[in-house]
Amino acid sequence: MSHLMNTYARLPVTFVRGEGVWLWDDQGNRYLDALSGIAVCGAGHCHPVLTKALCEQAATLIHTSNLYHIQNQERLADRLTSLSGLEKAFFCNSGAESNEAAIKLARLYGHNQGIDLPTIIVMERSFHGRTMATLTATGNRKTQAGFEPLLTGFVRVPYDDLEAVNQVAANNKEIVAVLLETYQGEGGVNFPQANYLQGLRKICDQNGWLLMLDEVQCGLGRTGKWFAFQHSDIVPDVMTLAKGLGSGLPIGACLAGGKAAEVFKPGNHASTFGGNPLACRAALTTLDIIEQEGLMANAVTIGNFMREEFKQRLHAWQNVLKIRGQGMMIGVELPIPCGELVPEALKRHLLINVTSEKVVRLLPALNMQKAEAEQVVHEVSALISWFLENREK
Ligand SMILES: *Cc1c(COP(=O)(O)O)cnc(C)c1O
Repeated sequence: MSHLMNTYARLPVTFVRGEGVWLWDDQGNRYLDALSGIAVCGAGHCHPVLTKALCEQAATLIHTSNLYHIQNQERLADRLTSLSGLEKAFFCNSGAESNEAAIKLARLYGHNQGIDLPTIIVMERSFHGRTMATLTATGNRKTQAGFEPLLTGFVRVPYDDLEAVNQVAANNKEIVAVLLETYQGEGGVNFPQANYLQGLRKICDQNGWLLMLDEVQCGLGRTGKWFAFQHSDIVPDVMTLAKGLGSGLPIGACLAGGKAAEVFKPGNHASTFGGNPLACRAALTTLDIIEQEGLMANAVTIGNFMREEFKQRLHAWQNVLKIRGQGMMIGVELPIPCGELVPEALKRHLLINVTSEKVVRLLPALNMQKAEAEQVVHEVSALISWFLENREK
């Protein structure tokens, strides 16, 4: 009997080795990975440049403390702020922690202006993590149920609905920020209309609110730009990162600019491990690989190719399927719950995911090649067709 707490419904497989888009289980079977550890291993498994850098760093210095200056942390803050147009970075160890930092920052920003109950607008179908503040911010009752009392200080609106935000603006004088995923991941791979972010930016500016974007899943090159907000013409005040940042070494970041940049003062926030030399080296090397190997361009080419192939291969089902995505963030929404596709794919030695019950989600490594992408689409399309045929009967 396992002595692990029973928090995960794990699939019946144990991986022991990885290389690029391939994983091997403890029986020596090879699997094609179209999920990359849920958008974590963007450069593929065990990229040799990363492995070498981590070995070197592990032999030099792993951890000191934020009681002292840390070279790699300074370098990483320089890189991320110059790539994003934001000004300051705080480093932690996960996506939830990066959002905790953003939520604390927004509350402090409000208190500094004399707002006693600073309130943050959050979205339906959002996902921000599993800590108490982030599960409160999350728009999914399943994540929250059983963990009440939740936090106060959040109001929820539908995603991609500017009018709903305007209504809150008119009625609630305690709002200090809007927190949303630029593109929603867990909520079903959802993308807003083209003018949505600009509209939010405008409302935030008019009201003195912070625009806070959770790019934990969609950031770091996955959609073809360093950050998903860069597809639109705006810059947020706060952005959170994690998943793809360290290629599997735990690291998260909360970036801030403009009126949000100077909110935290010594003593307001901290993390023992946050931004240690090894985790930051992983992130610096990940950024180098994405840049030097042209991974964002590849994510666009291969992502577009996969969506086109899906449309062709699933043409017979075009009236019931919704195929969407940008770059290597790909969703195929079915008309019915389809979680059983995941174990079926596993039997065929293919790793995929289903989120929000009905959405087949693919988050491949940004450097997946065309032949591998073709194999993924071929097998996933066959599975979806087989599944729909058997369900309709
Ligand atoms: C995964 C995810 C998180 C939570 O990250 P953890 O590292 O699991 O805490 C937060 N926001 C988004 C958008 C995510 O996809």
